[in-house]
Amino acid sequence: MMTLSQAAALQVKWKQRAYRTRCEHLVFELEWNGEGYLTGHYVCNLCGVSVAHRDLAA
Ligand SMILES: [Zn+2]
Repeated sequence: MMTLSQAAALQVKWKQRAYRTRCEHLVFELEWNGEGYLTGHYVCNLCGVSVAHRDLAA
């Protein structure tokens, strides 16, 4: 699982990386809002992008 602040930190890290390859978004984790509730979104555990669950099915 991933909180919103963790996702934000990942996004910063991803933008600062040395080699700018495109993220394939291979591994997603459930996104939590920091108060113990699911947001209904998933977060890529590499780049920190947040996607709606329906987008993952495609
Ligand atoms: Zn990604």
